[in-house]
Amino acid sequence: MPAAARGFLFDFDGTLSPIALEASAAQPAPGTADALAALHRVAGAVLIVSARPVSFLRRHFAGLELYGLYGLEHALPDGQVVVDPEAEPWRPVVADTLAAAQAEFAGTGALVEEKGLSLAVHYRAVPQRGEKVRAWAAAQAERTGLWVQDGRMVVELKPPVRLDKGTTVARVVHQLGSAWYVGDDVSDLEAFGALAAERTRRPAFLGVRVAVANPESGGALAQAADFSVESPEDVVKLVTEVATALG
Ligand SMILES: [Mg+2]
Repeated sequence: MPAAARGFLFDFDGTLSPIALEASAAQPAPGTADALAALHRVAGAVLIVSARPVSFLRRHFAGLELYGLYGLEHALPDGQVVVDPEAEPWRPVVADTLAAAQAEFAGTGALVEEKGLSLAVHYRAVPQRGEKVRAWAAAQAERTGLWVQDGRMVVELKPPVRLDKGTTVARVVHQLGSAWYVGDDVSDLEAFGALAAERTRRPAFLGVRVAVANPESGGALAQAADFSVESPEDVVKLVTEVATALG
């Protein structure tokens, strides 16, 4: 990839998709796939960097390069999936912890999401249980060696591998002349940080940090962003405008 190449990187939940009460029901905002495809035609690279497994992301964004589980999984546009070799041995530990989560939270209103190499407990439907869910996750992390990742009304347990949105984005933007990153959650701060670090390392690099406003985590992100948009629907408009301007 030439150094002048442009990249556009997007989180999924809360960024391209309105937050759904049940995580499995989340859908991209209307027009998202078409807008990203249009951008992909005129820009160098369009990538998704998400907490979701690539098996989920591929249903919506076949043909794009995808980083799932914060980068533990990498799907190339041809469909090939590369799993981080340090994370792979943790699969049985994750499966065991998933079973413990399903037993713990059955009937409580907290929803357990199976992601293969990680698991998430969503408490959006029962926010009053958030503290208990997080305490449970902390205890499981202590017991198993998995790491905790916080999010909007969700806590995750994932393999203790130093791969997050920051390291993943750093790896991608290394090859780019400019990059946009659009996100809505605290884990996206790491991605913003990677853009800033690349600028320090290479002053010719241009990084654009875009926050999607929301009352849960949007404040911290908006402070660190170059600018904010109001919703996933506005991200579609922005992407369409950028694609038109570049085309
Ligand atoms: Mg998000």
